[in-house]
Amino acid sequence: MRNLFSFIALLIGHTVLLGQNSFSFEGRENNPGSKNYYEIQVSDGKDSTFIPVTVFHGAKPGPVLGITAGIHGYEYPPILAAQKIIEKLDAKQLSGTVILVQMANIPAFLGRSPFLNPLDGKNLNRSFPGEEKGSITARLAHTITQKIIARSDFFVDMHAGDSPEDLMPYNAWYNSEAFPEASKKGKAMALAMGFDYTIRFQIAKERVLQPSLYCSQEAFHRQIPTVDIECGRLGMSGEQETNKIVSSIFSLLSHLQMMPNENSNSSPSTIITQRTSVKSDHTGIFYSEKHAGDSVTKGESIGYITNFFGEQIKEVTANASGIILYKIGTPPINKGDTLFNIGHLP
Ligand SMILES: [Zn+2]
Repeated sequence: MRNLFSFIALLIGHTVLLGQNSFSFEGRENNPGSKNYYEIQVSDGKDSTFIPVTVFHGAKPGPVLGITAGIHGYEYPPILAAQKIIEKLDAKQLSGTVILVQMANIPAFLGRSPFLNPLDGKNLNRSFPGEEKGSITARLAHTITQKIIARSDFFVDMHAGDSPEDLMPYNAWYNSEAFPEASKKGKAMALAMGFDYTIRFQIAKERVLQPSLYCSQEAFHRQIPTVDIECGRLGMSGEQETNKIVSSIFSLLSHLQMMPNENSNSSPSTIITQRTSVKSDHTGIFYSEKHAGDSVTKGESIGYITNFFGEQIKEVTANASGIILYKIGTPPINKGDTLFNIGHLP
């Protein structure tokens, strides 16, 4: 009998050891193996909105992965991927916690507004870490910083080509001498996600002392290993791109040992460490037969700009050889706009 009691005590002790605590979020306890929805209210006294967030709290202990979709409300594949993740991610299978921001910028999404929040005309992805007492976009950034990024051990921000941006799918990691450990882990995360191209975002040592501006960069400034996704083009929904994002997140969960290993047969990513922009020094109408993903050679003609009477005022040439990561995919062009971004191939 005594032996039986000790056996049971041992068993209970063991279970507690392996077991998972609840996860407190927005004043509510998330039980192990549960999925819960939140609407975090944000208001500046004039304008109000909310941030829909899903917390997946795994049955087993592990790290916290923060994911944001819809920082730009016109970039649909990440937003639709986040919708699919709600169904596909089983908290009972999960080790650790996923905090998924379903849509960071509801006003931009419902307002069908590229880049900017129509309520105050500001770009959420130039507003981090945000301000507690600022206008609505600054408060959205502040809320995401405090409630999601600050709680994360790993972080992913998901984007796509906005309405005028023709873009080739890639992901990227933050790299800086200032934070070698977060850089190394971020690189391993990015390479595990199955993108053909992975970009190194190089951040100068001094830059990490300044305001981050970008959502993902805010995570990196907090020494959190961080990856960006860019997948989707020209403001389109893109089912293929949506599915690509979902599978990349599941590959990442396997890499972080938060989910059982999925069989991935993806070929290794090509790493791009250098990029060159082709800027416009004219305002007018832009023509180009090139697309994102096309290869270009330095000096090659890759488009032209006309004035508003159809007269060519500029031939656009490639100022570097490589692959077009993104380009302006629509006719309007302003002086100073980036026409092309060319990734140098190794
Ligand atoms: Zn974006």
